[in-house]
Amino acid sequence: MSTDKLIEESKKYLFNTYGRFPVVFVRGRGMKLWDSDGREYLDFLSGIAVNNLGHCHPKVVIALQKQAQKLIHVSNYFHIEPQIKLAKALCQNSFADRVFFCNSGAEANEAAIKLARKYAKENMGGQRYEIITALKSFHGRTMATITATGQEKFQTAFTPLLPGFKYVPFGDAGAVRDAVTDKTCAVMMEPIQAEGGVNVPPDDYFGELRALCDEKGLLLILDEVQTGMGRTGKLFAYEHFGIKPDIMTLAKALGGGAAIGACLATDKAAEAFSPGDHASTFGGNPLACAAGLASLEAILEDGWLIGSCARMGEYFAKELLKLKEKYHFIRDVRGRGLLIGMELDFDAAPVVRQALAEGFVINSTMGSVLRFVPPLIVTEEEIDALVETLDRIFEGRLHHD
Ligand SMILES: *Cc1c(COP(=O)(O)O)cnc(C)c1O
Repeated sequence: MSTDKLIEESKKYLFNTYGRFPVVFVRGRGMKLWDSDGREYLDFLSGIAVNNLGHCHPKVVIALQKQAQKLIHVSNYFHIEPQIKLAKALCQNSFADRVFFCNSGAEANEAAIKLARKYAKENMGGQRYEIITALKSFHGRTMATITATGQEKFQTAFTPLLPGFKYVPFGDAGAVRDAVTDKTCAVMMEPIQAEGGVNVPPDDYFGELRALCDEKGLLLILDEVQTGMGRTGKLFAYEHFGIKPDIMTLAKALGGGAAIGACLATDKAAEAFSPGDHASTFGGNPLACAAGLASLEAILEDGWLIGSCARMGEYFAKELLKLKEKYHFIRDVRGRGLLIGMELDFDAAPVVRQALAEGFVINSTMGSVLRFVPPLIVTEEEIDALVETLDRIFEGRLHHD
């Protein structure tokens, strides 16, 4: 089918839920993508922080092929070997003692919200259910997770929302303390707000939140759906802050591209769930877990990739800061590891479109923030190629003004 015909049928047969670019991707390898007309692109979006190992990493592909020949799905009525192995590997490499598997970030956060409410019923006297989250946060698109998300644009069309959520400005520990009442059971935050414009909190923020939660007997839930699996230069972003959460959610990069989510917790928190409290038909299925295990092993091998992510992140930010020196309309460059935002003083969407036309897949969020989340395997040469292209696009804009 021709590209035009494919796009025409895409518009005809699919719900109109995405503002899609007129591109059909058909193949990927490492940093590269190819479209249905054979054009090559460098991918600085990674399917939104999913393909941390690049596209079609051979270890993930082989794990999927092997598992697909053995067993694709049974049911969580039975023990599943790849699920056990992935849970064990995640626990051995994090604060967590136990894992619940699901299929997406929103579902992982649903599990965390339900776990916090049940934990509160059993351990906090039965009167606590409120969860404090941050303004400009993003926790998913289900009813509970749009409620947790502190942004009205995701909520207004779908009210009434779920009761029991309170929002505070991100990065201000005093605001969280002021928001705690005798109804509060948990504080739920992204370590770095990604969708909300790549917002990095002050260094002592999570230390203060951990101390506050300990003092008041609250659960600290970290949404590491986007920051987890090496993205920020540590396997999990909480490692930057010298604290441990009680509950953490993962998805995006967890499956090396396969659809999987997870809610991780300490024994103490996880004990609140008993058989029948929560479940997912596909959650932790053999195929997704085999991909997840292969991906985690590849990320951890020699510690090479995560170290490279930290180094490339610093290099990338340094190069973007040079552009900031040159162009008055660049307001800020911020982020950690390979989760980097560049705030402009105008709508970033045309820049994304121009970059795509030049063969670079990038993204914008919150209107004016360019977001860069390349695979962790990105090289200096590839970063240079994008920065040169951005330089040219910005130069053109300068002469336009
Ligand atoms: C993407 C994202 C989600 C939602 O994940 P889905 O898999 O799209 O449901 C939740 N939290 C954060 C921080 C995210 O970046």
